[in-house]
Amino acid sequence: MELAELVARRPFPAAGLLIGLTRRCPLSCAHCSTGSGLFTRQEPDGRQLERFVGSFTEENRPDVVMLTGGEPLLLPALAERLSTLARNAGSRTALLSGMFFARGGALPGSRGAFPGRRRRSIPPAILRAIRSVDHFSASLDIHHEREVPRADVFRALHLVREEGVAVSLHLTGTGASDPYLADLTRAVEKEFGGRVPCLVNEVRPFGRAASWARAARTGPDPAAASPCPMAAWPVVAFDGRVLACCNQDTVDRRPVPPHLDLGHIAEDDWGTVRSRALESPVLRMLRTVGPTHLAARYGSGPRPGSYCDGCRALGGDEEVAAGAQAVAGGAAGALLDLTAAMRSSREGAQGIVRRHGCAAYAPLVVAGGPALPEIDGRDLR
Ligand code: SF4
Ligand code: SF4
Repeated sequence: MELAELVARRPFPAAGLLIGLTRRCPLSCAHCSTGSGLFTRQEPDGRQLERFVGSFTEENRPDVVMLTGGEPLLLPALAERLSTLARNAGSRTALLSGMFFARGGALPGSRGAFPGRRRRSIPPAILRAIRSVDHFSASLDIHHEREVPRADVFRALHLVREEGVAVSLHLTGTGASDPYLADLTRAVEKEFGGRVPCLVNEVRPFGRAASWARAARTGPDPAAASPCPMAAWPVVAFDGRVLACCNQDTVDRRPVPPHLDLGHIAEDDWGTVRSRALESPVLRMLRTVGPTHLAARYGSGPRPGSYCDGCRALGGDEEVAAGAQAVAGGAAGALLDLTAAMRSSREGAQGIVRRHGCAAYAPLVVAGGPALPEIDGRDLR
């Protein structure tokens, strides 16, 4: 499964499931928004996760399961088991890693496709986990590079590609004019010749899961529709709670606002979580018009500052619930939801990245697509 295919499913409600396997991570990136560290031991119960993923059926399953963290490859056996369970039901799995295993200390070897370079191998348990997924993504940005050198990440990605697993890079910078991003994308192009697609995002405090979509920002008119794309795929948080939103701040706060709470993996199966995600009129409204419009139209309480603060404050507002029910309940609401998702996906993965990622680098989301784009009149090729 290539990156563009995965990204193209992002607007469709419950087409994907994000699972935070563990908050732990051996790296110490300065910008880490998941609050990860080697001793931050917070993770869902592995058996509950297996039971939850084991509840997928061929008829009722997410198309894509995204394994994230922290660092999911700290639990390689669990990642492999979840991937196998998901695959048995027909779902495909992607895994996003910070690439700690690529950093020094790996075993030297003598064979390989990199003459003149010292070949390193991937530890066996990690390699088994990587072989079990349908897509492997590596994070890279200026902070990661201080932890794991770019050359080590590239070397490991060559090894993963040799295993026949589709790979991509998730790159983050400050925006289209960031010289770091220009240098990095040029280096990726030189190393892989356009065969490794990149999802390029701009720095923001939303954590790893959110690299698949960014919450919309409110424009000058608070009543204008500004849909939230982060309310499409359910997220399993580090305590096993399932949320409708992948904003890291929301994922971490307790209690979860009622309208964003889809249940818990200890009690609920995928079918139940999916129904809640798809059938909630408030969630349908968040996905189609966004929280500020919803609050402006029906809200009875004060409207706190940010886009997401405003959304979280909607929980428990009965007038909002009644308004959403009137507009987005029943079959008409389901159609509204689907129509909005289809509109978002109309221009494919590139269109989605143009709206929610770093637009200037959107062409790189397609493997073998056009080489480096022209940014601000500078041709990066
Ligand atoms: S690799 Fe990711 S999870 Fe780990 S410290 Fe860096 S940003 Fe945090
Ligand atoms: S808190 Fe609400 S508006 Fe913010 S990302 Fe989550 S669902 Fe979207």
